Amino acid sequence: MTNLGIEPYRGDQIFKWIWQKNAKDFSVMTNISKELKESLSSKFTISGLQIEKKLLAKDGSKKFLLALEDNKKIEAVFIPEGKRKTVCVSTQIGCPLHCKFCATGLMGFIRNLKAYEIADEIRIIQENIDNKITNIVFMGMGEPLLNLKEVMDAISITCSSIGLSISQRYTTVSTVGLIQGIHALLLSPLKVKLAISLNFPDEKMRKEMMPITKKNPLKEVLKLAKEYSLKKNMVTFEYVIIDKLNDRIKDAQRLLQLLKGIPSKINLISYNPYPLLPYEQPSEKKVEKFLQCLLTSHHTITLRKSRGQEILAACGQLAALNT
Ligand code: SF4
Repeated sequence: MTNLGIEPYRGDQIFKWIWQKNAKDFSVMTNISKELKESLSSKFTISGLQIEKKLLAKDGSKKFLLALEDNKKIEAVFIPEGKRKTVCVSTQIGCPLHCKFCATGLMGFIRNLKAYEIADEIRIIQENIDNKITNIVFMGMGEPLLNLKEVMDAISITCSSIGLSISQRYTTVSTVGLIQGIHALLLSPLKVKLAISLNFPDEKMRKEMMPITKKNPLKEVLKLAKEYSLKKNMVTFEYVIIDKLNDRIKDAQRLLQLLKGIPSKINLISYNPYPLLPYEQPSEKKVEKFLQCLLTSHHTITLRKSRGQEILAACGQLAALNT
């Protein structure tokens, strides 16, 4: 607005119309003068994501296939859980990191999402559900820390009181452990939560299953995680337990050993099989044994229920090509 010679407060008004009232056109903005609306309409258009498909799971989770302006597709998932209404958003189309157990990794990398596209995933889902979204997790398609500038700009929209008004305290950025990105997040003014997808406490196995480990050694990732926990918010370590790969008691013990001295939570998630991948879900008994071992530690441990599995909306199952 300032660049157009218009009073800056008009920017706030238009921002509210777009992000809070889902305005698709300047003509509906009743607190803006007719001349200004006409002038804006002659120079700009308001565009947004389009819902291509909506799938509803028995547990109430909803997966949205969303089309971008260049007709590329991404997925985002709404997960209701009691009072908590979470949206899991994508930050990239595909992903360049090729973690072997992940459906998104199979797609390869297409492009980074823009900040407005990321924030629009939440806006459009909010427009299409009856509940107020309370939590955001950057855990959908892509590695958020590879697109950090846009993710940060998206958060400035989602947490703004004239935007989507979702507190940073209820916003989690999840990473496979990129040293540079975690460092940048540490130095940034953001107060979001950090989740690190650890999965393989044995570094050799981690390098094999999550090749990014070769350039981002666990030791350094954990050092930064500790710093994040002490300076910002307590870090959560995600552990996707996969049958016969990382489901032994020895793995649980090794995990606890690694996290010794790091104030953190551990989130255990039973692997969600994906048709094109050879990995399997461990038995409930194995998961329970693993959980019992973790519970001997001082960490807060949660066993995350798998949500929306039958619509391939669960963790690690997002891949727009196969929807
Ligand atoms: S787990 Fe995350 S970082 Fe790894 S391939 Fe999948 S989307 Fe990319």
